[in-house]
Amino acid sequence: MSQDKHELLRTLPKMDQLLASKEAEKLREEFSPEMVKEFAETILDILRKFFLEGTMKNFDLEFFWHRVEDELQIQSEMQYARVINGTGIVLHTNLGRAPLGVAALDAIAYTATGYSNLEYDVEKGVRGSRYDHIEELLCRFTGAEAALVVNNNAAAVMLAVNTLAKDGEVVTSRGELIEIGGSFRIPEVVEASEADLVEVGTTNKTRVRDYASVVNEKTRMLLKVHPSNYRIVGFTEEAKREELVALAAEKGLVVVEDLGSGTLINTEEYGLSHEPTPAEVLKTGIDVVTFSGDKLLGGPQAGIICGKRKHIEQMKKNPLLRALRMDKLTLAALEATLRLYLNPERAKKEIPVLAMLSATKKDLAIRAKNLASRLRKIEGVRCSVQDGEGYAGGGALPQEALPSKLVVISSTCSSVEEMEEYLRIGPMPIIGRIQKNSYILDVRTIFDSDLDIIVQYIEEFHQ
Ligand SMILES: *Cc1c(COP(=O)(O)O)cnc(C)c1O
Repeated sequence: MSQDKHELLRTLPKMDQLLASKEAEKLREEFSPEMVKEFAETILDILRKFFLEGTMKNFDLEFFWHRVEDELQIQSEMQYARVINGTGIVLHTNLGRAPLGVAALDAIAYTATGYSNLEYDVEKGVRGSRYDHIEELLCRFTGAEAALVVNNNAAAVMLAVNTLAKDGEVVTSRGELIEIGGSFRIPEVVEASEADLVEVGTTNKTRVRDYASVVNEKTRMLLKVHPSNYRIVGFTEEAKREELVALAAEKGLVVVEDLGSGTLINTEEYGLSHEPTPAEVLKTGIDVVTFSGDKLLGGPQAGIICGKRKHIEQMKKNPLLRALRMDKLTLAALEATLRLYLNPERAKKEIPVLAMLSATKKDLAIRAKNLASRLRKIEGVRCSVQDGEGYAGGGALPQEALPSKLVVISSTCSSVEEMEEYLRIGPMPIIGRIQKNSYILDVRTIFDSDLDIIVQYIEEFHQ
């Protein structure tokens, strides 16, 4: 090391000296002494490097403490944050699927900030079950004899297979051996549930006699799976639910259906094609149906299991349930969401997923025009409203585009890539897409309360 640099380094203050200063004292009012020390050391190390490189020659005490404070502030900021969804995909898995409604949030705040009757029967004054609060409600909506809830639908399928087919064989059509996002693969889920999967039929055609041909003394379950995020079209055939139910009755097996999204409303009312509801499925005689809480239902992440009482009771006794059980915050949000379905008109307005799916062309056009006219006032912004297509997402109705309105934005002063990045990395990230040199926001998934922020950021970008 040269003599000069050595001399320079000696001008850096000592850590003890820094920590004894009044600036350090002030930071310790807001952050722990350990944190203040840790980040003071980190910044001092960085400055030492600048001195050695020759990129810095004077130690500025004010600059030093500003940097330390910035780092400490970053530590206290939430990394897990809200974003604005401009993709038009209502159930966007990467963006957290279903946004919760006000009723769900209120229920969480009300029950979770104090004690609750989570596992206490207040009428009898004895221990109760966390599943009792919503079982009746789920039975009402699905026509099931009994119901149970777990962490997510993957857990629901595991619990059903492990309880009803452990060490035995589970028969599934080759046309239903799906993988959905986040590495949920039916063959692996069955294996992890300690059962053996037996594939039958072909990708496009499976008949009930294919199932019948593999049934033996080890067979326990026929598992039907919603194809979720893909469709086989053309020359296809699948066994009818009634046929599977009849086969199972004859051979003493259970029939379980993983319904995936699971909707409690008729999707045709939303101009979408028909999605089978849990009630329809159970009516055909299927023993147990499972579905998600945070897909078309519009509630929190959950796995809902509905069906025959004897099977549900068996699942309640499986020790796996303890590991898969739903927490109290989710339970509150799920119950509040389900109660809205007692009045479907109210559900449509107050459950955000349903409100977004049922937004009319007129609603969307108004929102798009409003946003576009505000953006056009910004110097350097070109903006138009165009027709476009969004999707339900979340494995529901993959082929069905939802006609929507797009706000198409371009900037006369910089590239669309720069604008996209600026909007994406801000304090409230905005997720849109680039298409042919324009930045596109689909207004179906944008809340009215998001509009001010979008305008503000695009304004800032053009300053
Ligand atoms: C989404 C889905 C799952 C997984 O549900 P999670 O609630 O995400 O665990 C399982 N099966 C099907 C058919 C699905 O569509």
